[in-house]
Amino acid sequence: MTDFAATRAMFHIPEGITYLDGNSLGPMVRTAPARVARTVEAEWGEMLITGWNKAGWMDQPSRVGDRIARLIGAEPGTVVMGDTLSIKVYQALAAAVDLNPGRKVILSDTGNFPSDLYMADGLVHTLGEGYTVRTVAPDEVEAALDSDTAVLMLTEVDYRTGRKHDMRRLTTEAHRAGALTVWDLAHSAGALPVDVAGAGADFAVGCTYKYLNSGPGGPAFIYVAPRHAEAARPALSGWLGHEAPFAFHPDYRPGRGIERMRVGTPPVLQLAALEAALDVWDIADIVDVRSRSIELTEAFIQGVEAKCPTLTLASPRDPRARGSQVSFQHPEGYAIMQALIANGVIGDFRAPDILRFGFTPLYIGMEDVDRAVATLAEIMAKSLWDRPEYRARARVT
Ligand SMILES: *Cc1c(COP(=O)(O)O)cnc(C)c1O
Repeated sequence: MTDFAATRAMFHIPEGITYLDGNSLGPMVRTAPARVARTVEAEWGEMLITGWNKAGWMDQPSRVGDRIARLIGAEPGTVVMGDTLSIKVYQALAAAVDLNPGRKVILSDTGNFPSDLYMADGLVHTLGEGYTVRTVAPDEVEAALDSDTAVLMLTEVDYRTGRKHDMRRLTTEAHRAGALTVWDLAHSAGALPVDVAGAGADFAVGCTYKYLNSGPGGPAFIYVAPRHAEAARPALSGWLGHEAPFAFHPDYRPGRGIERMRVGTPPVLQLAALEAALDVWDIADIVDVRSRSIELTEAFIQGVEAKCPTLTLASPRDPRARGSQVSFQHPEGYAIMQALIANGVIGDFRAPDILRFGFTPLYIGMEDVDRAVATLAEIMAKSLWDRPEYRARARVT
């Protein structure tokens, strides 16, 4: 059983804060500053350019990728780090479409994160030739699979509501219809058990600054199933995905397996912060994290529904059907969230009316749930949110 007091001690949470926004930006592990400082001073500072070999910077994207692979049920050597999630979505989707010629539809759901849909739009625009993106309601995805579907592109856990797709079943159905799958694990990796190999996923992508705590701007990851690794054509054919980057050939030849999904120079400092953050998984078991997260979210829902009758649950009531976050709706959601933050309980807001609360057992306990419920109840009962400064929209919500 995971010792959650021990995992909590690994994180720096500012005094007086209950942090329910690890689904958007995970907090800092205490070892991150020293780890990054070591990379800056002892590696960059002392080794200069020799650090690429001596400090192993060039191998870091696949070395760290293997640590992520263990968290998402991927085979060794199938995950590589780099770029942002939007870029990785594009790469995975382009490769998947290319592997399924003759079919022209990328199918997704209307709840998908806008950037994933924007990237798909950008791709079909570049491809031309009748390629289209089709979105349907999340529960209509299965019925919408047909002989035109090239790729089913879904985010497993909905960023707004926390609704969770059945990855295994939908992958099986997609394959039965002759489609390939691209799964976005932005709200899954580090939040709940994922088994990309067991589910038969073709491609998967995800970010590390949410539940994997790599810090702002931390790199994304991409998984390619071994059966596609040597056939997947990289749309973003950068030099570090080349078979021999330092041969400086004028012609592109894809690298071996997952290496071809690298694009350019890896973010060495951000990867150092991520490596520090991944150490928590040496003492945390994702199965324990999931069951504790369900206890926390159940208690939060029960508390809020008992004490805040004007808030409406926007997440599935069945804990198995949602990820590690809970959302409530209210027309004044933005101002309510600002009032909560001013009172030391940090969640976030998603337009038009969603209050989001992430529950990450690595550093959140039942006392945080109690405090969040009590603070929210007081704000609602006394309308403390009803102040002009809480309505003023900031650039990031
Ligand atoms: C957070 C998130 C993103 C963000 O993409 P970036 O390129 O890292 O900014 C994309 N897709 C989903 C599903 C997300 O949850």
